[in-house]
Amino acid sequence: MKVLAANWKMHKTRAEAWGFFETVGSSIKDSAVRKIVAASPTLLETCQRIAPSCGIEVFSQNCAFETSGAFTGEVSPSQLKELGIKGTLIGHSERRSLFGETAESAVRRSLCALQSGLDVIFCCGETLEERKQGNTRTVLASQLQGLKKVDASLIDPTKATRFIIAYEPVWAIGTGVNATNKEIEETLKWIGEILAELSLPKLPMLYGGSVKPSNFNEIAAVAGVSGALVGGASLEPASFGQLHSALL
Ligand code: PEP
Repeated sequence: MKVLAANWKMHKTRAEAWGFFETVGSSIKDSAVRKIVAASPTLLETCQRIAPSCGIEVFSQNCAFETSGAFTGEVSPSQLKELGIKGTLIGHSERRSLFGETAESAVRRSLCALQSGLDVIFCCGETLEERKQGNTRTVLASQLQGLKKVDASLIDPTKATRFIIAYEPVWAIGTGVNATNKEIEETLKWIGEILAELSLPKLPMLYGGSVKPSNFNEIAAVAGVSGALVGGASLEPASFGQLHSALL
């Protein structure tokens, strides 16, 4: 199945979120594309009230690695489940670079989310320096390594829809510079090899990094690409709709 996942980052008020879904409406509700919006904690309840009428699943942008306890500032997977939230992003590069999240905590968060019944979009990607030095594969292997702890039965190997990998080169996020088709294809191939080495089933893989309606037709056609994780271009209903059309 193709996947369009929006990462709204720290954008939108509740009224703006509501307006987004009102404008998107029900026309794409039954499309064959899996549609996801990952929103800030304050928006989740509002989104959850209206997004299903558009066929859109609501995700969190992160979740804690424990289900409850003394973890000030965190939101637990069970709290998200209580709101009806379907899944969560984990390990976004902004979490790693600005908030000190590590490969280890991303794995712990993923495990707790999966065990609590949330689906996971696990983000990984290299910096420009790492790519220039020829270290992309090694960096990805170190970010993915801990996933060997994930019990494959938790991810439903028959469909592999509960766990999605988003390959997001750090240098392409929010910069307007996307990876080339060749870079995307080669890197997704490496990720597939790394997952196989970890005895994980074949997982859907998204590309993320300056995806927009003008480049998405080409990117969506690259071998191995199941869809996209999109920041900036996902904020407006019109461009969300255009990105969706590219996956039909
Ligand atoms: C992201 O935030 O995951 C992302 C890919 O952002 P953008 O599409 O704006 O580059």
